[in-house]
Amino acid sequence: MPSSSADKPAGALVLFSGGQDSTTCLAYALERYGRVETVGFNYGQRHAVELECRQRVLAAIPQRFPAWSERLGADHMIDLSTFGAIGETALTSGTEIVMTGSGLPSTFVPGRNLAFFVYAAAVGHRRGLNVLVGGMCETDYSGYPDCRHETLQALQSAIRLGTEIPFSIETPLMRLSKAASWALADELGGKALIDLIREETHTCYLGDHVTKHAWGYGCGRCPACELRAKGYEEWRAS
Ligand code: ZN
Repeated sequence: MPSSSADKPAGALVLFSGGQDSTTCLAYALERYGRVETVGFNYGQRHAVELECRQRVLAAIPQRFPAWSERLGADHMIDLSTFGAIGETALTSGTEIVMTGSGLPSTFVPGRNLAFFVYAAAVGHRRGLNVLVGGMCETDYSGYPDCRHETLQALQSAIRLGTEIPFSIETPLMRLSKAASWALADELGGKALIDLIREETHTCYLGDHVTKHAWGYGCGRCPACELRAKGYEEWRAS
């Protein structure tokens, strides 16, 4: 896609965790915008592997995608470890991952994505980046209310009102199935991006980055692994 038209925003800030979805979003932004930076959040994740994968993906992009290397700028890490203290959920403490009475997995930290975007807007303002890109998806994670299109549209309005800056929130995966997300990655970066996602990104809730499958590393049994595996198989079969 072209990135030179005059009315195009100067650049984008991608909420980047080192997982499959945010890596696909990073490729989407690099293909679309002339200047792209990344922001990550340390919120007391149980598994350091997630943050290690993040660094490996960021290091691999300029090496494997020369056309994107000039566009990829600074990475920003924000410490939100207070979320770990507040949430007391399965991702941030020793609690077992179960479905709760409200129909949400115990991995859910209420309002986490809302906070991420508010912090991203503050970083975006400092860096002159008015497009905020996130990998939220309401198709597969239907139980996460802060991943819904309607929520993020409202948040975009709130951030615009509250900052008087015309921020846009873009969520390219919002309506895509996991199979369609793999297809989008293939479209954006071909086999090189598919291989990068399989080798370096992390999704598994249990922090397993040792057991290798066709779709990447993971325990193969947790909800995140099952979703990723199912999507990969459906995409390969399509
Ligand atoms: Zn897993």
